[in-house]
Amino acid sequence: MTRVAYVDGQYLPHHAAAVHIEDRGYQFADGVYEVMGVVGGFLLDEEPHLIRLARSLAELQIAAPISNAALRVVMREVIRRNGVNDGIVYVQITRGIAARDHAFPKAARPVLVVTSRRRRPADPHAVADGVAVITIPDIRWQRCDIKSVALLPNVLGKQRAREAGAFEAWQVDAAGEVSEGTSTNAWIVTSDTTVVTRQADSAILNGITRLAILDIIRREGYGFAERPFSVAEAKSAREAFLTSTVVELLPVVRIDGAPVGNGQPGPLSRKLRECYLAHASAAGAA
Ligand code: PMP
Repeated sequence: MTRVAYVDGQYLPHHAAAVHIEDRGYQFADGVYEVMGVVGGFLLDEEPHLIRLARSLAELQIAAPISNAALRVVMREVIRRNGVNDGIVYVQITRGIAARDHAFPKAARPVLVVTSRRRRPADPHAVADGVAVITIPDIRWQRCDIKSVALLPNVLGKQRAREAGAFEAWQVDAAGEVSEGTSTNAWIVTSDTTVVTRQADSAILNGITRLAILDIIRREGYGFAERPFSVAEAKSAREAFLTSTVVELLPVVRIDGAPVGNGQPGPLSRKLRECYLAHASAAGAA
């Protein structure tokens, strides 16, 4: 099956899909994106993703190129044309095409790109044995709440993790507190079984998976706190894990080479992963 991409009003073969060289996304990273899960052919947590997309656009004063109703149709059509049953949909909106000049162009029209691909099977070792993270300075800007395509610090951080043989890099702010991973939110479980993740202010992206896990925690009646935690606290935590649409929930068993807890995925991390997968498949069955 030929892969198909939606680019600015047209469905094109993926290999021929392209945007203009003066698209502001290309020149200035002047755009936003979303990654949504596709489960059993259905979009997982579509509503909160669309709300976050609208918020990111509003923060950058980019007009939505099409209505949400139209976007829902386009996403479904891209999923259908690519034969994706389990996978992801990528939605990107840039400010549009204009002669290069930093200030907002007067006449540019936002450009929408939608692609979809099948889910890469989760690494069974990562799920069963947990993953390692390293810690790195958070060198990003002060609006990490906007899901902007400007991901260079995240790219550099993920590459450092790969070179260190780790799955992810946890970014650490000037106060020594963990903000988040380069493409995931960061969590710990304290010795009194409180689940801790940083509050969703402008230092982190408010992950849709993060929100779903917080809902599950509330529903299941676990203690939780939305607050910063330091690298030292994370290293001495009982459990740690990370979350995102793409990786769902993975236990973190090593931080900078030191084991978390007994170095095995913790029971609460496992339980929350199961609950999250149930939430995802319920969405697919709905
Ligand atoms: N933080 C960052 C920096 C991310 O890029 C992502 C993934 N887009 C996340 C957290 C997790 O967000 P979500 O659960 O919505 O995938």
